[in-house]
Amino acid sequence: MTRVLILGFDGATWDLITPLIAQDMLPTFKNLMEESTWGYMESTVPPMTIPAWISMFSGLHPEQMCMFDLNKIVIKGEIVESRIFNSNDSKGNLIWDFLSRENLKSLILNIPGTFPPYPIEGHLIGLDYTPMENCTYPEELEKVLETEHDLTRMRENQKQLHEKEEIALGAIQEEERTILRILTSFSERFSYDAIFIRFGIPDHVSHQSIRDDEMKKCHILMDTMLRTVLDSIEYEYLFLVSDHGIRKEDTVFYVNRYLEKLGYSRPSFALRMFAYLKLLLDSIVGVQKTNQVFDKVLHFFMRGKSVFVQDRLEMGESAAFAFSAVPTHFCPFYVVDKTRKDEIIGALRKNKYIKDIQKVDCTEYGPSAILESCYPISVKPSLREVSAESRWVHDMRAIFLVHGKNIKKGCRLDCSIYDISPTVLHVLGLPIPDIMKGRVLTEILEETSEIRKRDPQYVPSTYYAPGVEEGKIKDTIKNLKIQGKI
Ligand SMILES: [Zn+2]
Repeated sequence: MTRVLILGFDGATWDLITPLIAQDMLPTFKNLMEESTWGYMESTVPPMTIPAWISMFSGLHPEQMCMFDLNKIVIKGEIVESRIFNSNDSKGNLIWDFLSRENLKSLILNIPGTFPPYPIEGHLIGLDYTPMENCTYPEELEKVLETEHDLTRMRENQKQLHEKEEIALGAIQEEERTILRILTSFSERFSYDAIFIRFGIPDHVSHQSIRDDEMKKCHILMDTMLRTVLDSIEYEYLFLVSDHGIRKEDTVFYVNRYLEKLGYSRPSFALRMFAYLKLLLDSIVGVQKTNQVFDKVLHFFMRGKSVFVQDRLEMGESAAFAFSAVPTHFCPFYVVDKTRKDEIIGALRKNKYIKDIQKVDCTEYGPSAILESCYPISVKPSLREVSAESRWVHDMRAIFLVHGKNIKKGCRLDCSIYDISPTVLHVLGLPIPDIMKGRVLTEILEETSEIRKRDPQYVPSTYYAPGVEEGKIKDTIKNLKIQGKI
């Protein structure tokens, strides 16, 4: 039996699930909620996919890892380099790294930020945010995926995303079904102490379509997938989670346009031309229709480059810029010319659409601040500062549900994304590194149960560090002394 199953639906929110339950459309979610403790879970700031999953599985705040977006942006003088965050930025700090040190076996399937794969006790398979090649540990698993689960077809589907909307939605559904088949077949064939599995919906769908009927279809698929998981995997504890929620917004704030007007930032020549073209199209066919085609055209034009900020700005003429992979109400803000940091942040504070600016202290790389706006912040080219556009955006309210042995039924409990790792370690009977930001959610456990009576045990972060067996023993002894047990 799997001791802990952590099942994630990227972008899932109770705000969409509960109304569909009321219409009797999601029977599996309905039954599971009645048998579980569940509530809203506050995501990371910003609520972005890679930092949120990594914070969930490390218990660390994005500031502790300088990870606030999909992209790692390093500024050296006037040189700006960016790439997608990968496992080299977080490995060693994640919960399955700790389980490996305790010889507990994990399956990690489709968790963002786990590419390139690296040795753990068990199996690691990265799919989203990877080239879908050399994406497994051990290496030979890739052959199994190719022959038994048509990884080649998944690679083709990946290419179709961002092209034609109808095909993309079909490709998303096919990809989810394949991941589900990999999960059921691996859990049948191997035994794991912990399984970490993430499905990309509804996040993927929200970035492809604004249509409510597509979102409804996506939730019905989620419900049948959940049914299959519950029927095929025996577990002691199930944690059902998302990394952030989603919600529809009607206005977008183009913060880099404001910086451009103040002379702090200058888009590349190509993007300036796009901004003019967009404005022209807006006046002919309307903003909403323009956005539908514009996103695809921009994506096609910027193939392979769209995530790289250095291709979007005239670097020599930009003292600062905001950048995030998708719009949310929060956006990382980077100052290239550090001598002007206070001046530029001071100017931003005067903008009526900016609610708050949180300074960030990342020494090596990362943003200087996180901007919070009353509208979702887009970093795409625009000649308007604010524009009326409907879109799904990431929301701070993720989902949390826990079901299983000694777990209270039909209870409500809101929590934070940082609470997942300490709680999972506690239910597995393992100590919690004191560097973790969250807490053990003891309220989920029945008052009379043995596990509820057991106090969480905290240890220094070196406890799980590789190659420090001696230090680990010393730390344990030290901790037991502190607790007065020896
Ligand atoms: Zn996400």
